[in-house]
Amino acid sequence: MFSLKELVRPNIWALKPYSSARDEYSGKEAHTFLDANESPYNNPYNRYPDPLQRELKQQIAVIKDVRPEQIFLGNGSDEAIDLVFRIFCTPGRDNVVTIEPSYGMYEVCADINNVECRKVLLNDSFDIKAQRLLEVCNDCTKVIFLCSPNNPTGNTLNHDEIRTVVEQFNGIVVIDEAYSEFSSQPLWRPEIDRYPNLIVLNTLSKAWASAGIRLGIAFAQSDIIALFNKVKYPYNVNILTQRQAKDILSRRPDVEDWVKLTIKERLSLMYAVNELDICQQVFPTEANFFLARFSDANRIYDYLVSQGVIVRNRSRIKLCGDCLRITIGSPQENTTLLSALRRYC
Ligand SMILES: *Cc1c(COP(=O)(O)O)cnc(C)c1O
Repeated sequence: MFSLKELVRPNIWALKPYSSARDEYSGKEAHTFLDANESPYNNPYNRYPDPLQRELKQQIAVIKDVRPEQIFLGNGSDEAIDLVFRIFCTPGRDNVVTIEPSYGMYEVCADINNVECRKVLLNDSFDIKAQRLLEVCNDCTKVIFLCSPNNPTGNTLNHDEIRTVVEQFNGIVVIDEAYSEFSSQPLWRPEIDRYPNLIVLNTLSKAWASAGIRLGIAFAQSDIIALFNKVKYPYNVNILTQRQAKDILSRRPDVEDWVKLTIKERLSLMYAVNELDICQQVFPTEANFFLARFSDANRIYDYLVSQGVIVRNRSRIKLCGDCLRITIGSPQENTTLLSALRRYC
């Protein structure tokens, strides 16, 4: 049986959170705010932001079809990932399990928190078997991190295998869906009502074209979100970010056009790269990037740098020998990349 209380670090379960001025009074009727030692000048920057980002969550709840209490907002997904460690993993004792190759932040956060990170190698088609993940878990395994579509491989992980992990693992399963808007595969976010141990991550950094404002989103049942709220910094999302996030979320038709264009460009760029003699293989993707294997990735990478074109060299990563990860840019940027690759010799 899944028990949240038994999974959470005892000190966090018992924690009495910091109570800010904005927590104690959050009504709208008042007009004279002398409770937070703010300056009366330089409006609106003089005021502390809403610690629970209520307006923004309302907007996200409608777009993502969840309830506001099922949303945590942080300074990038990275804050949500770090909070997962701080809430569930006792340093020097507990461990987490993740896949390899995948997004580097899971392991970095594990190292920072002095938590062991057990990595399970993906198979040749960059996919998982639930059994392989479950068999490396022990009584101290608190969290399994999955990423789908996966970075840097681009593919989604097998839905049935993920379901087996979510249903059979007695701890938390985090599914990072940073690239879900570019994917045609079924999502995990709609499943949070069904699974009390599921946390799904989203971000405004990719499809929503807002990496600079730093806004990451975690979706889970409200008791898990309450733990995030208890442990986070009181004012973790500043007013500039909250305002800019509301603005981009209200421009959904633009964002959908950008996503459609990116998917269209992805198809033609992958086709063209695959035609090059120096390209050995283009891997299937559901994200706004793709992985491709070349004859000599390091040399091609250096050449592209000399041409002012930067891609990600993943050739030293397991299973990614001689691979470059290429982000889909604007039509013009993609043409620039292609003509540079065609001039390579
Ligand atoms: C880019 C990316 C993110 C986004 O991180 P932010 O901190 O929200 O910018 C999250 N997860 C994965 C797998 C990514 O590739």
